[in-house]
Amino acid sequence: METTQHLKEQQLHALRAQIESAGALTRSPQPRWKIENSEELYRIQGWGEPYFSINAAGHVTVAPQGDRGGSLDLFELVESLKRRNLGLPILIRFSDILEDRLERLNACFAKAIARYNYDGVYRGVFPVKCNQQRHLVEDLVRFGRPHQFGLEAGSKPELLIALATLNTPGALIICNGYKDREYVETAMLSQRLGQTPIIVLEQLEEVDLVIEASRHLKIRPILGVRAKLSSKGIGRWGGSAGDRAKFGLSIPEILTAVEQLKQADMLDCLQLLHFHIGSQISAISVVKDALREACQIYVGLVELGARMGYLDVGGGLGIDYDGSKTNFHASKNYSIQNYANDVVAEVKEACKARQITVPTLVSESGRAIASHQSVLVFDVLGTSDIPTLDTLEPPSEEEHPLLREMYDTYLSISINNYQEAYHDALQFKEECTSLFNFGYLSLTDRAKIERLFWACCRRILDVVRNEDYVPDDLENLEKSLASIYYINLSVFQSVPDSWAIDQLFPIMPIHRLNEEPTCRATLADLTCDSDGKIDQFIDLRDVKPVLELHPLRDNEPYYLGLFLGGAYQEIMGNLHNLFGDTNTVHIHLTPKGYQIEHVVKGDTMTEVLGYVQYDSEDLVENIRRRTEQALQDNAITLEESQLLLQHYEHSLSQYTYLSV
Ligand SMILES: *Cc1c(COP(=O)(O)O)cnc(C)c1O
Repeated sequence: METTQHLKEQQLHALRAQIESAGALTRSPQPRWKIENSEELYRIQGWGEPYFSINAAGHVTVAPQGDRGGSLDLFELVESLKRRNLGLPILIRFSDILEDRLERLNACFAKAIARYNYDGVYRGVFPVKCNQQRHLVEDLVRFGRPHQFGLEAGSKPELLIALATLNTPGALIICNGYKDREYVETAMLSQRLGQTPIIVLEQLEEVDLVIEASRHLKIRPILGVRAKLSSKGIGRWGGSAGDRAKFGLSIPEILTAVEQLKQADMLDCLQLLHFHIGSQISAISVVKDALREACQIYVGLVELGARMGYLDVGGGLGIDYDGSKTNFHASKNYSIQNYANDVVAEVKEACKARQITVPTLVSESGRAIASHQSVLVFDVLGTSDIPTLDTLEPPSEEEHPLLREMYDTYLSISINNYQEAYHDALQFKEECTSLFNFGYLSLTDRAKIERLFWACCRRILDVVRNEDYVPDDLENLEKSLASIYYINLSVFQSVPDSWAIDQLFPIMPIHRLNEEPTCRATLADLTCDSDGKIDQFIDLRDVKPVLELHPLRDNEPYYLGLFLGGAYQEIMGNLHNLFGDTNTVHIHLTPKGYQIEHVVKGDTMTEVLGYVQYDSEDLVENIRRRTEQALQDNAITLEESQLLLQHYEHSLSQYTYLSV
């Protein structure tokens, strides 16, 4: 038995070798696809290190503690979550990654402080707006305790989170955003609970508000002022800085505020200078320019008699989404260490020149802390491809002349004439459409001609792909020939920034990475909205219009992961088409493997319907009444009516996404 099996395998092997060598004569030899090829293609080392990589099985692995700990197989994890009835799409949070990011940021500042003999400390805060989910904020507070890491609030509800969650003595609560009397008084009163709130004046009107509240409560607050820098920001959020920015006080306004506080005998309350020049700052030179200006304002405030003591450099620390290490908007040309070094060195220099005490340094990095900790995994439901031709038979004499012309064009395509051939093919296709519209071409002929047209395009694309320079008119060819992969996801709910501001996130399959991805595709989501798609992907240079993916296999799921989406996406997601929150799990690495710390079930249909004021019991009752009526009218059988009601009621308790 064993020997025959063995023999068979040998024969098979020989046969395969034969086929392969025959193939090698006709095609250029294709080296076997290796995981290294996938690493390069999806640039995982560029954006994923040290957390994400690929193992020998061709699966994405996650090392949540960076270089300090073990790793787990993401594909296996997803499979085991599915066995626990947690369907896709699923957001997987790795609390260890969050901790590692926080440690890194603090370590970089500690190193910079030591390196430049900085005579002060770093007290970072996490801007709650970046990700307000309770488990995450609670984790951050816990992980940040050794570093007296605090929180930043940009609104009243965020202040409520910060006040109740932060329990680290000495950690700061930076109070930003528009404020009313209640906001200000609540912040001040929390000093009595041992908190250290710093109320940052963003509008001139807030000065009076604060003075009045302080008199009324007899509490001396710690105040900060947000400066409108004239240094320019960069990229999408560049408008956060500059003379006409939405937030902050201009220099004349800062002086007015100082004067008002002085009159109220509260100049000693003014202790912090804040600036924020926008998110995802891709160029370190922009950070340096802003720092230089802010340092001079800080020094000036000290010289005006304000007590000072804190300099808050805001957020903006970037993420390398495409791994290119450039000042492209999806990248950044500096490391966290470069950033910390520049902050520390610049502030030290400015204070030394005017012989003033250096301040405690505060930063409000959100994106840099929260982006890596979550991975969104979703499945592909199906694909749509351009109809291709397996065999091309020459058209016979009786066929339509247009078909024969298209065929000749097809045959003629070469490196020397592909552009001309493309225009010919386009023209024939247009002729085909107008002939058809006037009734001179049959449906069958039109189908034949269109198929041939796509065959021409594909052949031209094969030529173009090998060219260094692609003529403008052919640039969209890749995109128009791409397959569409239908994904079990709502872009509006899970990746709103991809839709709203064309932000790029690394996306790749989490398995089959030892196989060549032979398809090129764009992604279309579940919503009935043509904007619900992803058709820009990270690339070393600029962006690419299609993503390399594997052909689907029958009865086998295909999982994609979207990475670095841990900041801003969750709360900005919306309920377009009533696709609700996804399932979320929190994974913590243990010596034996991993542990699921929390499961937050995604919205059910009852829940999303409730958001738009539908009561599920009323809905069921309505359907019940209608089925009764239909039964009386003999329009439905009893079995059908029962099945309909069963489906209806069951759906209400289910996940809003498709289960496959
Ligand atoms: C949004 C925001 C931040 C966070 O910015 P990141 O780029 O995520 O670090 C920090 N401070 C203020 C005032 C903000 O508005």
